[in-house]
Amino acid sequence: MRYIEPHAHMVSRITDDYEAMRLAGCEAICEPAFWAGFDRSSVDGFYDYFCQLTDYEPKRAAKFGLPHFSWLCINPKESEDMGLARDVLGIIPEFLKRSNVLGIGEIGLNKNTRNEITILEEHIDLAAKYDQLILVHTPHLEDKFKGTRLILDVLRADSRIHPGRVIIDHVEEHTVEMVLEAGFWAGITLYPESKATPARAVDMVERAGMKNIWLNCACDWGRSEPLAVPRTAIEMGRRGHSKEAVDALVFGNPVRFLSQNPRFQIS
Ligand SMILES: [Zn+2]
Repeated sequence: MRYIEPHAHMVSRITDDYEAMRLAGCEAICEPAFWAGFDRSSVDGFYDYFCQLTDYEPKRAAKFGLPHFSWLCINPKESEDMGLARDVLGIIPEFLKRSNVLGIGEIGLNKNTRNEITILEEHIDLAAKYDQLILVHTPHLEDKFKGTRLILDVLRADSRIHPGRVIIDHVEEHTVEMVLEAGFWAGITLYPESKATPARAVDMVERAGMKNIWLNCACDWGRSEPLAVPRTAIEMGRRGHSKEAVDALVFGNPVRFLSQNPRFQIS
């Protein structure tokens, strides 16, 4: 099996997880910027975090022959503080020059507040100005449907943004269709407790089709499973999907989306 892990928060994982992913067939890892489990107190905290994502973490991955790429932003949870958010937006362009940065993400909404929406619009503006791909986080549970709709409206309001260059992650049964029908890519996140289990993910793919969908494990500091993508590939095989179909979903699709940025090179 070969696969891409397109959304994993490796800063919160131990080195053994890199080795386990490599042994399971992982060929590249992409790491979006996210909330650290606590609110950072200044733009300097983000500067150090962006260095960690673009410099230190790729070195840790390289020990196992794994290419490591990142996405940059201030996450919606911390963007409630608009002053801090704008300071962070101000340092992102210098990091966009780094050869392992793929785009702006994971941006989006958390509690669907006015401040979050403003900072989301400013991230989208930055992505448009610098011609960047976009990776979007959608809110949890009861906020997900409304938040996803709001995010799609904000993206569609900016005529510079091409939906095929945007992935809306953490889709679930009630949001996957609106995302795909609007021309965006959809990401299904596999978690042991929330978001989707492997069985739910395969159900979704069987209904929605495999075009323009990727799977990811998001693995962060909470209960999460770094090998959730290969486990889901096994579940697909168990249900009778061909090796080619599994490969298209867990390898071909993420490669197709990510290769829109020529920096995404894995061989
Ligand atoms: Zn994430």
